[in-house]
Amino acid sequence: MLEPDAARLRILEAISDVAPLPSERVALSETLGRALSEAVTAPGALPPFDSSQMDGYALRAADATAPGARLRVAFEVYAGSALPPPLPPAACCRVFTGAPLPEGADAVEMQEEVSRRGGFAHFRRAAEAGRFLRRAGSDVAAGAVALAAGTVMDPGAIGLAAALGRSELAVPRRPRVGLLTTGDELVPIDRAPSPGQIPDSNSHALSAACREAGAAPVLLPIASDTRGSLEKALRAAEGLDVLVSTGGVSVGEKDLVKAALAAAGVKLDFWRVAMRPGKPIAFGRRGRTAVFGLPGNPASALVTFELFVRPALLRLAGLGGPGRMLVPARLAAPVSKGGGLTHYLRARAYLKSGGLWVEPLRSQASGDLSSATGFEALAVLPRDATHLRRGAKVEALVLRPPRQG
Ligand code: AMP
Ligand code: MG
Repeated sequence: MLEPDAARLRILEAISDVAPLPSERVALSETLGRALSEAVTAPGALPPFDSSQMDGYALRAADATAPGARLRVAFEVYAGSALPPPLPPAACCRVFTGAPLPEGADAVEMQEEVSRRGGFAHFRRAAEAGRFLRRAGSDVAAGAVALAAGTVMDPGAIGLAAALGRSELAVPRRPRVGLLTTGDELVPIDRAPSPGQIPDSNSHALSAACREAGAAPVLLPIASDTRGSLEKALRAAEGLDVLVSTGGVSVGEKDLVKAALAAAGVKLDFWRVAMRPGKPIAFGRRGRTAVFGLPGNPASALVTFELFVRPALLRLAGLGGPGRMLVPARLAAPVSKGGGLTHYLRARAYLKSGGLWVEPLRSQASGDLSSATGFEALAVLPRDATHLRRGAKVEALVLRPPRQG
């Protein structure tokens, strides 16, 4: 049986020929959180012209080398004014923050240091060349790479691209993820369940998890526990980048997903991972589509999505890193487990005396929906550990910011 880390690496390796997905050009506002597939170079200098950083007066520093200089105010320049004429000899000009500077001016003095009498400005202190002005190109030089390919777009990167006049950028398209739920007992949430039936919750939880990972979920019709129904649903997944099914992968009589996947042309790579929750997890490929068969229990489905599907979605979107931090932590309560499987416990995470602590939720029952929320981390209990005392060092996969202890 594969170890979880080996399974994840195998998945990433198996999709390396299709990741990142082909790029598309999208509106700047649509790039948030996505990786650039192109470098953004500056078509011109940024800032584009020399400008004032203060409300005050622009001058030649050589005209005010000592306190008390008096210069004629030749004209006024506002932010948004057209480029002014050159500064006449022995004169200054009134400027405001962001105003373009005239040729000849090499300093700005703030208005608090200047007294104005009629058409003349009196400078209380010596001017200093370069003070309070922003030179053209001091931020980004013309032709320089402002954002490298692969940059993950954050609000600042969006602002920088906008300053360079880019209203559209190329990014890998969002992975399209088909969500296939299987089980005779499941009904859509807008239908009242009959006795023995339950609402399909997995497709909603996983749809949200897809969106959180920057992917585009596609809800497929619920499949019943027959080979025919499953095969039909799998055919509907044609053209998707990823297919995620839940339910029907264990060894119960009606757990037909593995067989149906194979019959639908999915080349299965593995179907068991040495972990809890989740032991039955299938992964394979059909053409360019990566196919995951996750367990049906809601908490298991979410945890296995987190560990195996999410990294694949990030990779397809061109997002290189793991996207989550695996950090050393201490157990806030003792835990016992059997050996042989790595356990991932849903846990509250909090910072206390400079360190991260993880407190496993009371219920780790994989069918309990109430324990599929309200945790910030997965505490990773090593395969061969059996008894872990309070304070034991473990690793925590941090999914949300920890609480302040
Ligand atoms: P299975 O993996 O098909 O044996 O399902 C395990 C458990 O998860 C069963 O109790 C199912 O009823 C439940 N289950 C499976 N799929 C879903 C789903 N989409 N929504 C909610 N519960 C589910
Ligand atoms: Mg089932």
